[in-house]
Amino acid sequence: MQKYLFDFCLPLDVKLIIIVGDGMADEPLEALRGQTPLEYAETPHMDDVVRSGSIGQFYAIRPGIKVDSDAAHLAMLGQDVNLSSSNRGAYEALGAGLTLGPTDVGFRVNLATIDNQFALVDGRAGRIRDEAKQLEHAVNDMVELDAVSFDFRQTLGFKGALVLRDDDFSVDVSLPTQYGVGRQIWARAANGTSQALHTAETINEFMVKTNEVLKRHPLNLRRLTDQKPPANVVMPWAVGQIERMNPTMRKYGKGLCVAAAPVIKGVCKYSGMDIVDVPGATGEYDTDTAAKGKIALENLGNYDIVLIHVEGTDEASHDGNVEGKLIIIEKIDAMVGLLLEHTDIAKTRFALLSDHGSSCVTHDHMTTEVPIAVCGAGVKADHAQHYDEKSALQGRLNILFGKQLMPFLTRSQV
Ligand SMILES: [Zn+2]
Repeated sequence: MQKYLFDFCLPLDVKLIIIVGDGMADEPLEALRGQTPLEYAETPHMDDVVRSGSIGQFYAIRPGIKVDSDAAHLAMLGQDVNLSSSNRGAYEALGAGLTLGPTDVGFRVNLATIDNQFALVDGRAGRIRDEAKQLEHAVNDMVELDAVSFDFRQTLGFKGALVLRDDDFSVDVSLPTQYGVGRQIWARAANGTSQALHTAETINEFMVKTNEVLKRHPLNLRRLTDQKPPANVVMPWAVGQIERMNPTMRKYGKGLCVAAAPVIKGVCKYSGMDIVDVPGATGEYDTDTAAKGKIALENLGNYDIVLIHVEGTDEASHDGNVEGKLIIIEKIDAMVGLLLEHTDIAKTRFALLSDHGSSCVTHDHMTTEVPIAVCGAGVKADHAQHYDEKSALQGRLNILFGKQLMPFLTRSQV
């Protein structure tokens, strides 16, 4: 008799490793002679997962729905997803290591370049790298808001998160986008409530004051001399608020998230998982996937479930960079190889999937199915041989949806 914690839970001695290549699935590309990047790339270890297990189709929400990564991961971790309103700013703040009280508001921010009229020049400040940490310290030390307190955290290069702390804020604000070059970046209240007006005013006060400090910062003066865009404002572009955490993952066991992207770390934390910082994981092309694999292996003894997320595949599609996407897929494959090599397959269950497809043609997320493969403890095999979009259509797993993922992966037999 095997012992189970819950009806649908993993056998007590089995570990579950979930590997998510963000936007890894794609469409057939001319540059790859009509193959998708997953078909074209050399992926012997991903193919091992399929050969020793089963493959099928996965939709985070349902067919025809274009889904963002935060909504996809929320669904995968058992949360109800509200497709009409994103709460992204809150997850970004949580994932950046900031605390978020029930009345605080969280934001995803960019270090950006603006002109003297507050019009956007470069939403990513020339893709400034981690030297931007100095700017975080300058903003937190030197900016003071009239009535409220804040916490700003630079995370990866030009990316960051912000929390504004007050009991009179609202998420009903319209924010600038990082792509609105030439447009002024002022936040506006989305309705006439005093909370919305107060929030928009506070964001604008924050942007004016960060601009005051950052435009004089030595790093930016040096960037100007080097003819690089100065990171002269902290620009919030996604907002969110959470009343309380909703640890949906706890019923499946103790979970760890190994990711670079703060929004994914935040969604996992919100859902009751621990998060860990991975030195060398950048969320970009140069990300160190081997470091992620090693951290996962080091921590496997202390956790029932480890989710490893790699962002670079999605970044490559958004840039239309086919070669970059192939390189990252092959890096993920090497990480899968490392994990397979150093785990006991009889006591470990693997799942490999994308949260959604991302097209190198349209540079956008796709609404079609993506491949999901499982292997290891308690998993039956089918006849599929390769991890790619076409094989997924033939696999034994048929079709799985995001909200079914955890109940499915933690069944005694899969
Ligand atoms: Zn995604």
